[in-house]
This record gives sequence, structure tokens and C-alpha cells, in this order.
Amino acid sequence: MDFISKRVASLAVSQTLAMSQRSQELRAAGVDVINLSVGEPDFDTPDHIKEAAKRAIDENFTRYTPVPGYLSLRKAIAEKLSRENGLTFAPEQIVVGNGAKQELCNVILATVNPGDEVIIPTPAWVSYVEMVKLAEGRVVEIPTGIDSDFKLTPAQLEAAITERTRLVMFCSPSNPTGSVYSRDELVALAAVLERHPSVLVLADEIYEHINYTGSFTSMASLPGLEGRVIVINGVSKAYAMTGWRIGYCAAPLPIAKAVSKLQGQYTSGASSIAQKAAEAAYTGPQDCVAAMCEAFRRRRDLVVALAKEIPGLKVNEPQGAFYLFPEVSAYIGTHTPEGRAIASDSDLAMYLLDEAHVATVAGSAFCAPGYIRFSYATSDDNLREAMRRIAAALARLSR
Ligand code: PMP
Ligand code: GLU
Repeated sequence: MDFISKRVASLAVSQTLAMSQRSQELRAAGVDVINLSVGEPDFDTPDHIKEAAKRAIDENFTRYTPVPGYLSLRKAIAEKLSRENGLTFAPEQIVVGNGAKQELCNVILATVNPGDEVIIPTPAWVSYVEMVKLAEGRVVEIPTGIDSDFKLTPAQLEAAITERTRLVMFCSPSNPTGSVYSRDELVALAAVLERHPSVLVLADEIYEHINYTGSFTSMASLPGLEGRVIVINGVSKAYAMTGWRIGYCAAPLPIAKAVSKLQGQYTSGASSIAQKAAEAAYTGPQDCVAAMCEAFRRRRDLVVALAKEIPGLKVNEPQGAFYLFPEVSAYIGTHTPEGRAIASDSDLAMYLLDEAHVATVAGSAFCAPGYIRFSYATSDDNLREAMRRIAAALARLSR
């Protein structure tokens, strides 16, 4: 007898987390694995943020928090949205939760009815499709490839919208491709959406600050989309705070209220201590953000240069986030010297883990077979050694 609900049985396991766990297990067993799988800054949380958390404990911020988050934190977020993005959101329109991940899922559950269509340009982060499945929505993928720098065109968007479309999901800078839409590109997409006023936009802006273009445009600032963009963001990436689990949505008031109602029934407000830390992140000095971005940019240059030297890898130059997403189809259909077939990008990722001891994530997990994702949020030495091992392992594959 299997007691698992159909809803959960049909969900895929998060491949980013699974690959990372596998690499940790191998490391615990004594294997020298380089982990380029999970995407998280390798920096420590800045000291002034850690101090704020310690103070929060001493000052007894230890009780249940308001479901949408402390008012002081929501005010700090509203100020951030105004200062950095030119947006006007009242604190009542902001809901803080356990990471951007929870708020993404909350918004989807709060807005998507069974059978509603949700447009997801792909490659897309592993959890989007699964969250839509939880809400019993219908995923409409719009595939993009490396030749268009993984960017959706207005014509593709127009062609995908139907009268059943409820939500369009965007992620810029993108996980897993690192692509960043320019303001002009976003304005052109917004012009399409302006013709479809019943469509909501879910803009995942979690990589806002890991952006090498020098400019960032929030979807919520675009003309024609007033009142129907939900912004997702949080402290995980910008402030190296993945473990603190604080993210938020900023949404039209009825949606924020619905998200808060949902959250009130199944997780309540996020950790009091982590919220106080996040408040310090938003109100404190911001030079740590730029310094980490600069370090990621340097590593991007390094990893792109090294990957371009590997025959058969097709590489673009990511403009943000901390991922490289090369096309690897030259290696699909090959076999190892022992005769093991590499029939898919998943086989290739497993081969790289087993043979090169480098953990990556297969493109299929991002709805993009034929690609592979490297997270370059690690040291230069690790990156050099990882790319050396990958090159050597790939050179052993033959047709
Ligand atoms: N969106 C994207 C695109 C991500 O890569 C991540 C990283 N896990 C998240 C959302 C969630 O971030 P968190 O829950 O740590 O705030
Ligand atoms: N966003 C990161 C990644 O894609 C963290 C892991 C996750 O939550 O998926 O690797």
C-alpha cells in the first residue's frame, strides 16, 4: 500500500538540491568532489547582519511574528523597492516568508485555478513547473536556446497567450542561463502583455544584484503593466543569506492578502531572528552587495574563458546570476571507454560526477535537455580544477 498522495507522487525531486546532497554524501565518504551544482553564494553573511541577528535574540525577538512579516521589515522592503527600483508598494502589499521559494509557491497557489495556463519561458529554474503542478495549473513552456541568448521574443510570447492564460513567469537575471533582459527588451514584452489585461506577471528578481550589465529594470516598473506584476525577491543571493530563509512578494493588495491568508494556515510568519537580520541587510551598508557581485563577475570571466577552451561545449557569456549553461549536445550519444552510454544530459551529469568528481545539474531539470548547468559561486582554484577535470573526462568520451 502506497500512502503518498497523487499530488505529491507526481512531483519531481528538486534536482539542484538532489545533486548537491549527492555531492555532500560523496564528500562525506572521502571523495574529493567539487560542487558546481547548487546555486548559492560561497561568501559568509556580512558581519553587521549577523550582529543584528544576535541582538534580536538578546532583545527577545523570539515570539510568533505577524504572518506577513514584521512591519519594520516590510517598511524596509518598501523603501528598498522605492530607492532601488522606483516602485511604490505599501507595506500591506508585501508578504515575507521562508525564502523567495515559498513566496513564489504562495503566489502561484493564490492565483492559479486548476486548468489555468501558466507560461514559463525555458530554460527555467527547476521549481517553477513543479509549483504550477501543485496548483493543478497547466504549464505552457516557451523554449528558447543559446543562439538567442535564451531570451524570449515578443512574437513567441504573443503566440503562447490564450484566454486561459493566468500567469506569465519571468526570471531576469536568469537561473539557469545567466541572461539579463535589457529595459528595451522588457518594454517590448510588456507591450504584448498590455494587450492582454487579464494576464498576471510573476517576476522573479532574486538575482537583481548579481548583474554585470550595470542596469536592472524591474518588471513592475514597466508601462502598461501597472497593478498586475508580482515581484519576488529576497536576501538569499544579494546578501549571501541562503540559510536564513527570508524572501518576499510585493503584489497588488488582493493578492498580497490572499498570500498572507494561505501562509497563515500553513507556515505562519517567518523566523523572528532571520527577519531582524534581513531588516539589517536592507537598511545597513550596501557595499557588501557590490563587492560580491564584482567577485562573481571575475569568476564569470574565468569560467567562460575556461569553458570556451573545451571542445564541444557551446558557451554564451552570461550577464548575471552565477551560472554557466553550456550546450553539450556534442557529447550526447557518445560512450565511455568502458562502453557506458551517454544518452542524455542527465547521463552526462552523472558521468561528470562519477568520473570527474564534479557535481553539476543536467539541463533537463530546467526543461532544457542538451544543456548542463555549472554554478560558478566557488573559488577560482575550484573553478580551474573543476574545468580541468571536466575537460579530461569529456575527452575520454567517443562516438
Ligand atoms: N528563484 C530562483 C530563480 C532561484 O534560483 C532561487 C534559489 N533557490 C529562488 C528563487 C529561491 O531563493 P530563496 O528561497 O533562497 O529565497
Ligand atoms: N537556486 C539555487 C539553485 O538553483 C538553490 C537550490 C534550489 O533551491 O533550487 O541551485
